[in-house]
Amino acid sequence: MKVAYWPGCVSRGFTPELHGSMAAVAPLLDIELVPLDRACCTGAGVIAEHNTELADTLNARTFALAQAVEGADLMMNICSTCQGAQGECQERLDASAEYRGHINGTLEKHGLHYEPGISNKNFLWVLVEELGLDELRSRVRRPLTDLKVGPFYGCYIVRPTDRLGIDDEHPRDTYLAQVIEALGGTVIEYAGSHKCCGFPIITMNKEASLRQTGRHMGDAADADADCVVTPCPLCHLNLDLQQPLAQRLVGREINMPVLHLPQLVGLALGLDPKELGLNKHVVKPTSVIDWTTSVVAGVGAGDGR
Ligand code: SF4
Ligand code: SF4
Repeated sequence: MKVAYWPGCVSRGFTPELHGSMAAVAPLLDIELVPLDRACCTGAGVIAEHNTELADTLNARTFALAQAVEGADLMMNICSTCQGAQGECQERLDASAEYRGHINGTLEKHGLHYEPGISNKNFLWVLVEELGLDELRSRVRRPLTDLKVGPFYGCYIVRPTDRLGIDDEHPRDTYLAQVIEALGGTVIEYAGSHKCCGFPIITMNKEASLRQTGRHMGDAADADADCVVTPCPLCHLNLDLQQPLAQRLVGREINMPVLHLPQLVGLALGLDPKELGLNKHVVKPTSVIDWTTSVVAGVGAGDGR
């Protein structure tokens, strides 16, 4: 499968282990990534709030660049926030030929043109809908047996349901749980799995934002999760980078490791934790690394080595 790949800027700046782990995992899933190097930030919903036409033009430009990738089956992102922001713009662009014509008038000065029809999917959706869970299962080399994983979706990938195409046929708000199971892990249910991490309000009300993070990670710990997994690097910033501060605010030690989705997939495909950048996190994923070590040791013992 060949995809026009939009990694987003956070995955290359603040959380480079996400971009790196996606690059390591893609060949193992026969996904060819063609990076959209000239694309710009989606605006994260913030630009659209102030200047809708500007946000739509920037994203129409990205879609047009993706449509120009020869042989690409679809466009893929690795960020719930990018998915949400781009989906919102795509909905507006596709709804009116007149508006689209106006935006294309700007793009055409740069030799680009957007036409409706491109499918833009988060890696999570690609795993379930394009690769398929049976195929994913067949590629697992190190099943996540006994690893208890709490899903954390990021709100931009679960709300609003109609724009995100969540329905009976596509229960995308259950895909993380389905992927964890397909990788052989145990899904941990907890109150915060589909809630907001608090990131968007961190500059306005840091305390409220971090209390949200602290509560969700505390809930995951109370439900006995070994780690949490997210398809959103911005969620990761609040849940992992800010977790030490969040702990202080909610007055308890949590130490909940937060993995990016490609890291969890990579572990099950047999990649080394270091290769996946697990050593780069603020909350050291000791439980996950210990689990990997015990599995590797178990295989060695089973081989009689
Ligand atoms: S929405 Fe966030 S991750 Fe996506 S491109 Fe913009 S800043 Fe980067
Ligand atoms: S959970 Fe937080 S960072 Fe993640 S998508 Fe929602 S608001 Fe953004």
